[in-house]
Amino acid sequence: MPVEPMVFPVQSRLLPPFVLFGLTFALTLGGILARPIESLSLFWPVNAVLAGVLLRYPRQATLPGFGLVWMAMVAADLACGSAWPPALWFNLCNLGVIVTLWQLLSRLPRPHRRLRTPQGVLCVFGACAAGAAVAASLACMMAAPWFEQSLRATWLAWFSEQFSTNVLVLPVLLTAPSLRALVRGGGQAIRLAPLLVLLASLALSIAFGGPGAIAFPIAALLWCAWTYSPFLVSLLALTAGSTLIVAVAHNLMHFSVPQSESGVTTLVSARLGIAMLVLGPLVVACVSNANRSLLARLAHQATVDHLTGTLTRSAFTRRASALLDNRQQHVPALPLTLMMLDIDHFKGINDRHGHAVGDQVLRQFARTLQDQLHEGELFARLGGEEFVVILPGLAPEQAKFTAERLRRAVQDLHVQLADQRLQITVSIGLAGCAEGQPAPSLDELLAHADQALYRAKAHGRNRVEQAEAQRQVV
Ligand code: GH3
Ligand code: MG
Ligand code: MG
Repeated sequence: MPVEPMVFPVQSRLLPPFVLFGLTFALTLGGILARPIESLSLFWPVNAVLAGVLLRYPRQATLPGFGLVWMAMVAADLACGSAWPPALWFNLCNLGVIVTLWQLLSRLPRPHRRLRTPQGVLCVFGACAAGAAVAASLACMMAAPWFEQSLRATWLAWFSEQFSTNVLVLPVLLTAPSLRALVRGGGQAIRLAPLLVLLASLALSIAFGGPGAIAFPIAALLWCAWTYSPFLVSLLALTAGSTLIVAVAHNLMHFSVPQSESGVTTLVSARLGIAMLVLGPLVVACVSNANRSLLARLAHQATVDHLTGTLTRSAFTRRASALLDNRQQHVPALPLTLMMLDIDHFKGINDRHGHAVGDQVLRQFARTLQDQLHEGELFARLGGEEFVVILPGLAPEQAKFTAERLRRAVQDLHVQLADQRLQITVSIGLAGCAEGQPAPSLDELLAHADQALYRAKAHGRNRVEQAEAQRQVV
C-alpha cells in the first residue's frame, strides 16, 4: 500500500499568503457563525485545522506567516461584531495553540509527524495537551475580565475543549492522503462491517446511557483500526468522539458529575475521557498500517527482482508450478514452452566496462525482452545474466519463432555508453511439451532447457537450440 503522499499537493510547495489569510479568515468566520448552533458551539476546530495545514505546508510557518494567521482571525472576529480587546486577546490564545502544536510537532521526524509510528501518535497527543494548556493559561491570564466563572473552571473548560478537539481533528489532517491518492483509491471497495458496528455501538452508547457507555464504541473503533487506513480511522474517531461529546452536552446519556469546587463538570470530564478513548485505536491503526506496508514491501522484494524488474526465481517457481498444475486441468493438456536465456560473454562486459555497465546491460536486456512478451507469459531472472521465459499455449515448434524474435531483438539492442555503443547477444535453450503430451515437472523442463542452452553455447552462441527430447517428440 500504500504508500503515502499528503492532503494537499506537495509538502515543499508554498501556500500563497493570501490563501493562508483567506483560509484562516473563512475558518474563523465559519466557527463564529456556527456558534449559535448549539452542537457546533461545543467545538473550536480552527486551531487544530490551521496547525495541521501549517505542518503540511511548513514553508509558510514563519513569523510573518503566524502574524498573518492572527490578523485573519482578528479580522474575522471584528467582522462579526466583536470589540477590539477580546478579539485581540482571544485570538492570541488561539494562536498560542497553533504555535505550540507547530513548535512541538514540526521537529518530529516525518514518519512520527505523519502518524506512521505509535510514538508519533503519543507525541501528537502530548502536543495537543500542551497546546490546550497554553490556550487555557493564556485565556485565564489575559481574558479573565470576560469570564464569569472561577479561574480554575475557566482553565478546565478551555483545556478540555481544546484538548479533545485537537486530538480528534489534528490526526485527520496529519494522515490525510493527497487528492491524487484519494482519487486513485476512491474506487476501492471498503469493508463495511466495522463501520456499521461502530455506528451501532455509538447508538447503543447513547441509548444505554451512563458514564461507562462512553467506552462502548472502543471495540468497534479497534476493529476499524486494523481494517482501515489511519486517515479513515482518524475520521471515524472524529465522528465518534464528537457525537459522544454532543450527546453528553445535551444530557442524552443521562449522567452528570456532581458539581464540585474543582470546576470539573460533566462535559469537562467526558471530553477528557473521550480524547483518551481514541488514543488506543489511533495507535493500533498506525501499527497495523506500518505492518501492512512492511508486508507489502517484503512481498514486492520477494516477487520482483530489484535490478531488472522481472520476477525473482522464487516467484517464478511458484507461478510456473501453478501454471503447470493448471495445464493438467485441460483436456487435452495445453502446449507449453520454457526458454532459458543466457547473455553471451557477459563476464567480458563486466571486466572491460565495469559492474555498473554490466547492470545497465542487464536492465536494458530485461526491458527489451519485456517489450517483446505478452501478458500471461512468465519472465524471470534466475540469477546473474540467466533468465527464463514460459510461453503457455505454445508448443516448442511454434515457440522457436518467438525465441528467434527475442534473439534478434537482443542483437539489435544497442546499449549507449558515454563514448561508445555496446552490442550484446543471447543464447536460448528451449524445452516444453506439445498439446496433449504429459507435462514434465518444472525441474525437468528447466534441466532440458539448460541442456539445449549448453548446446547453443557450444555451437557458437547467439542462437536458439531445442532440447533433445523435444526434437525426438516433435
Ligand atoms: P557465456 O557466454 O558462456 O555465458 O559467458 P559469460 O561470461 O556470460 O558467463 P559467466 O557465467 O562466466 O559470467 C557471468 C557473469 O555475470 C559473472 C558475474 O560476475 C556476472 N554477474 C552476475 N550477476 C551480476 C549482476 O547482478 N550484475 C553484474 N554487472 N554482473 C553480474
Ligand atoms: Mg551464465
Ligand atoms: Mg553468459
